[in-house]
Amino acid sequence: MKITEIDAFQMSWAENDRPSQRSAFVIIRTDEGLAGIGEASPMQGGLASLGIIHNDLAPMLLGQDPLDHAVLLDRAMHTLIKLGPDGALTGALAALDIAMWDLKGKATGLPIYKLIGGAWKTALPFYASIGGNGERSPDEVVRIVEERLKDQPSAIKIRFDNKRTNLDTDLAGDIAKARVVRQLVGEGFPLAFDANNCYTVGGAIRVGRALEELGYWWFEEPVQHYHLRAMGEVARALDITVSAGEQTYTLPSLNDLINAGVRMVQPDIVKMGGITGLLRCAALAHAHGVELVPHQTQPVIGHTANLHVVASLLQNTKPVEWNDPSARMHPPFKNPPVPISGLFHLSESPGLGLTIDETELKKRRRELIRGVDNDGR
Ligand code: CA
Repeated sequence: MKITEIDAFQMSWAENDRPSQRSAFVIIRTDEGLAGIGEASPMQGGLASLGIIHNDLAPMLLGQDPLDHAVLLDRAMHTLIKLGPDGALTGALAALDIAMWDLKGKATGLPIYKLIGGAWKTALPFYASIGGNGERSPDEVVRIVEERLKDQPSAIKIRFDNKRTNLDTDLAGDIAKARVVRQLVGEGFPLAFDANNCYTVGGAIRVGRALEELGYWWFEEPVQHYHLRAMGEVARALDITVSAGEQTYTLPSLNDLINAGVRMVQPDIVKMGGITGLLRCAALAHAHGVELVPHQTQPVIGHTANLHVVASLLQNTKPVEWNDPSARMHPPFKNPPVPISGLFHLSESPGLGLTIDETELKKRRRELIRGVDNDGR
């Protein structure tokens, strides 16, 4: 099987949305008439990753066998390493890896979870991930959590999403919001708190102790992600599980985070390595006795790819993340993932198991503005 086309484009989810608000998709087509779909991290609309796919990766991959994905993408990573291994390049490679796994499934007639060794379970509970709580009043936080409880999550995570340039702006206010959520859901319900990197070490330890008192399950990204030692210091100082890793892009960086003392890591399938990369992260985390609970906020492709990997994990200690319960990204797919009674079910269809509605996809796709080469083409 040979790759004949790599189609990188943005997907628009609302009329008049800005390019920075869109998703970044890739479709790989082959000489056998098969097509696989993937997506890159949508930071700033994923335009940087899509540009790298179109300009740099597609010329290297056309004519190659997509079943050689690990060799092809590791070679591409090392050839293009000076583009920077963190972020845009790894997002581009992740999108292609997911699309090639989708193709592998379609070529063999098997779902991805079968190809990676089988699923411990094919129905997976989720936690509702609720962002933007830094700006809300405690009453507003309670209202939005109440709303998301209707989806029957197994746990709730409240994210603060404050500006990363301001640290420790309202520790008492943040603790008060954690407290009202605990009062709302009752004592036994699993809760998580995501600081989105906005505390100092001292601020994080103070909030973390309050979360321990309130019986929270984990405390996510308390300090700046690039301060590995500080992240580790907070993790070691607290009894509550401290998690990090959604802004980690390579396996050695994840290893550094674990060595710093973090005991729950959260790499993201659309940011680093795709399915191949996340499986490598799982092996690393397992070798260290560290929990792997992937970060995932993309509701269809990223989410489905993530489910295939999470289902295959030996130790699956937390529910999967579900960020966006709206159906706004569903129309281009005939069978987008939707939970039933609090569980996402993996499809037995080949590859990711997603069926594309070509008409709806065409309506929403937005072309990249192509660079003009020296010949003016
Ligand atoms: Ca987070």
